[in-house]
Amino acid sequence: MKKTIALLLLSFSNATMAEDCAVTIESNDMMQFTMQEITVPASCASFDVTLKHVGQLDKKYMGHNWVLSTTDNAQGIVNEALKAGPDNNYLPPGDARILAATKIIGGGETDTVTIDTSGLSSSQDYTFFCSFPGHFAIMKGSFKV
Ligand code: ZN
Repeated sequence: MKKTIALLLLSFSNATMAEDCAVTIESNDMMQFTMQEITVPASCASFDVTLKHVGQLDKKYMGHNWVLSTTDNAQGIVNEALKAGPDNNYLPPGDARILAATKIIGGGETDTVTIDTSGLSSSQDYTFFCSFPGHFAIMKGSFKV
């Protein structure tokens, strides 16, 4: 059901050029993303992902980020998140497996990342996720180009 709504929203946004190559995804105090799937239109040279935290909790306790990697690499990145720590937004610094990432945000905050789509392939499986410790099991989805 949620998948259908996301697709409907995407097809509506195709009508307005300004929103064509951008999406806003919300996260909350329940450790959830509001989308399980994001599809990038083929016409987009770059794509903006805006992560909003609509909850109240501080990023120390319920921080979220939006990270993109190939599906094969996601678990490996998450395994190093705790060691990387909050100062590195729970991501191993300079890791080439990370294709895009926002910073870790808390309740009421927003961050945007711009993805250069020329480095992405439609034949590759991509996953987006939150790397805050313990969130990966629930906070992830499929990213399609
Ligand atoms: Zn999270």
